[in-house]
Amino acid sequence: MQKTLREKLFQTRDFLLGVELLSIRGSMTEKSAVKARDFANDLVACPAVDWISITDNAGGNPKLAPHALGKPILYAGKEVVIHMTCKDLNRNGLESQAWVLSSEGFHNILAMTGDYPVSGLGGMAKPVFDLDSIGLISLLSKMNRGFELRKNGVPHAAERLGKTHFLIGAVTSNFKLREGEVAPQYLKLQKKIECGAQFIINQVGYDSRKMHELRVYMDQHAMQYVPLIGNVYVLNPRVAQIFHDRKIPGIVLTPPLLEICLEQGKSADHGRAFFYEFAAKQMAIYRGLGYRGAYLGGVFDFAAVARILEIERAFSPDDWKQFAREIRFSRPGEFFYYAENPATGLADPAARSPVAQPRRSKRIGPVYRISKAVHGVMFNRDRVLARWGKSVCQNSADSSQGPKLLRAVEWVSKLVLYDCRDCGDCSLPEIAYLCPESQCAKNQRNGPCGGTKDGLCEVEGFGDCIWLRAYERRKYDGNERELLRHVPVLQNQALRGTSSWANHWRGRDHAATASDQAGTAAVKAGNVEARELQLPS
Ligand code: SF4
Repeated sequence: MQKTLREKLFQTRDFLLGVELLSIRGSMTEKSAVKARDFANDLVACPAVDWISITDNAGGNPKLAPHALGKPILYAGKEVVIHMTCKDLNRNGLESQAWVLSSEGFHNILAMTGDYPVSGLGGMAKPVFDLDSIGLISLLSKMNRGFELRKNGVPHAAERLGKTHFLIGAVTSNFKLREGEVAPQYLKLQKKIECGAQFIINQVGYDSRKMHELRVYMDQHAMQYVPLIGNVYVLNPRVAQIFHDRKIPGIVLTPPLLEICLEQGKSADHGRAFFYEFAAKQMAIYRGLGYRGAYLGGVFDFAAVARILEIERAFSPDDWKQFAREIRFSRPGEFFYYAENPATGLADPAARSPVAQPRRSKRIGPVYRISKAVHGVMFNRDRVLARWGKSVCQNSADSSQGPKLLRAVEWVSKLVLYDCRDCGDCSLPEIAYLCPESQCAKNQRNGPCGGTKDGLCEVEGFGDCIWLRAYERRKYDGNERELLRHVPVLQNQALRGTSSWANHWRGRDHAATASDQAGTAAVKAGNVEARELQLPS
């Protein structure tokens, strides 16, 4: 009997291979679906392929739900990883989708926030982002522990749903330019693992120093037992141009690499031999760096997969070190967490990068300073004002709004200072007094998504990412490592239009319930179990 992906990750030391299958638009009878199924059949028959990953409305475009393509693969005995994103479904839709997957035998899920939708019937679809990747991981993790049902809001231990058996994967992205992008990505990675992520795949990228840096960072921050898979996207001149033009959020391809790709594209085979070898070299680098496998995308027929594997097998064990020197496409001024080891061109685990941005920040102004001071006085439960606030709200005609005058002061001051959208479940203190509802296209409350472009939001018009701004404010205060200590936040939509002050004072917002949602001792204990399954190195 075939080993499951979980068994392969935690009970072997094999270098694994996953191949991406892009979902198609249309039903299973479409020509493109038939082609995808033929490709999948070849992958199923190949013992070197450990799993097939199926995308979920990739790039923000509507496609066939991944489990439709996944069923025949699963029934043929191959491991399938289903991608789940938060852009098209709210938390109930995602939960419902997860029950379907569990019922049909899909136990491997890659949980992501997802790309911002770009198309749909009659125009662009409304983005959902009710949860983010941390919320989704928390949800799946909770399902794995057995959902405790609630009666009138009170947990009912006798009524626990059966446990699911999801192997939960997450994605991380460190191929970023600025410190305020890279460092929060690392903090969020740590939080994803605390919330229940059991394996990690990195974003597509073409810089071996950053590939190494990620492995080193995980090793040095209590994540050494979490399997890390390296993303290899097979290029061609057209894809290289798309990546270079930043048309795929989060993916960077530098001008020097583009030049090489375009030059190779002029050859008789349009660069195919070069691009296959380039992909094989990336696989060899990941293997050499101690990643647990490679995730191959950008391939659409089995011949390409077979050729890349053949090239990679022909390399000598130490060849990857030379390849690592060749595939070093970072950008001028790019932030690295670790210094460069001049002998290898990779990260130096013993030295932090000297190029960290200075603590001074243009982000620090009177609004930030006043907000911090006022928050300390008004919302610290031990302070007189907080006790007074709780009492007056509880005794007002509508306790969710509080006294009318106080509510008017809240509404006007928060609108003027933060462009508040009155969601009633305020995340200002956690994001250094920046409102995620008005200033983040995806309403990210648990750290940045992977889509930033050199610090800017992937969606035009939003300016610098709020998490980069929050990181810089925190860095000025000397507590940037605390940036995501608050997570996970699962925003309560029932509070919309009510007073966030009253909700906080009365213990009705996420600050009061966060500990129940995830990142709990149970999840951490579960992760320890997973660690123990890992063979000693
Ligand atoms: S209450 Fe909600 S909408 Fe208003 S500032 Fe806070 S997070 Fe933003």
